[in-house]
Amino acid sequence: ESQLNPNYNFENFLEGDSNRLARNAGLAVANKPGGTSFNPLLIFGGVGLGKTHLAHAIGIDIKDKYPEKTVLYISAEKFTQQYIDSVKKNNRNDFIHFYQIIDVLIIDDVQFLSGKTGTQDVFFHIFNHLHQNGKQVILTSDKAPVDMQDIEQRLLSRFKWGLSAELQSPDFETRVSILKNKLYRDGVEMPDDIIEYVAKHIKTNVRELEGAIISLIAQSSFNKKEITISLAKEIVEKFVKNTKREVSIDYIQKVVSDYFQMDVDTLQSKTRKRHIVQARQLAMFFAKKYTKASLASIGSQIGKRDHATVLHACKTVDNLSSTDKQFRKYVDDIAKKLAL
Ligand code: ADP
Ligand code: MG
Repeated sequence: ESQLNPNYNFENFLEGDSNRLARNAGLAVANKPGGTSFNPLLIFGGVGLGKTHLAHAIGIDIKDKYPEKTVLYISAEKFTQQYIDSVKKNNRNDFIHFYQIIDVLIIDDVQFLSGKTGTQDVFFHIFNHLHQNGKQVILTSDKAPVDMQDIEQRLLSRFKWGLSAELQSPDFETRVSILKNKLYRDGVEMPDDIIEYVAKHIKTNVRELEGAIISLIAQSSFNKKEITISLAKEIVEKFVKNTKREVSIDYIQKVVSDYFQMDVDTLQSKTRKRHIVQARQLAMFFAKKYTKASLASIGSQIGKRDHATVLHACKTVDNLSSTDKQFRKYVDDIAKKLAL
């Protein structure tokens, strides 16, 4: 089971200036897995710009050309979970062995390994083994290796061995082709001026671009309305508003304290009671994640703590959410409330 999604193929991954380097590097790797200097191939870029899609496309193409090769796609999160389980069940060696006999290993969102030293360590050994044996490694990340935090130096230096290729936001023409291709595949017709209107206003994220078109189609069919520019305008405005809104640290504190049924003063207080400390750490974690505020500024706004406390909070939340199911649920629930 390679876990590849057949729709995420090269044909559907439209080329533009924003992705040409990454796309061509991907094609080169697919032609000669393990046989190019692009090993590892690391694809990086912001949310919704096609990292996962391109990673699958490479895997699918390799499977087509080299059916005998074992290709495995896995998210770094799932990889981490599997590793933790293997340690618990005392079969860490089986875990390592499983990964060492793969021909093409694709790990999505490696930034997730930040701060997870055990998983980084095991991945380091798997990586070395694969690389030495001419096997291909493909990674994606939301950041370039130079900007990654809390990843061990020896692993970062491996990431830099091959090629790091960035996916940027697509230009207008590419956005139009992506939309047209999607509509064509879904068998939906839409006037060019509407497609162009959407492509003109939603610029930074392909997932949102597709999302806007999907809600446009849905709105028009539910309400039996014709698809017009004014309907498109309505929908685009909703999308733009939802994504531009940056949550404030006050809002985060409010949401987290509501979630734990305490008030903001309690969350900020000096108490060492475990559930209050955890709530405070979660607020700090989300402030770091969802705002541009510095660690120092987050600390001063959440109960006058210093930047080291905030950093510690972020690490604690990271660790707990990969080891503690209940805690993980807190993180997911709060993330949902904040995302709206
Ligand atoms: P990421 O992993 O970077 O967050 P995804 O790979 O999940 O982004 O892409 C988000 C959506 O945008 C997917 O539906 C994907 O098919 C689509 N997409 C992104 N880039 C392209 C492209 N160049 N051509 C066609 N579809 C694209
Ligand atoms: Mg992705």
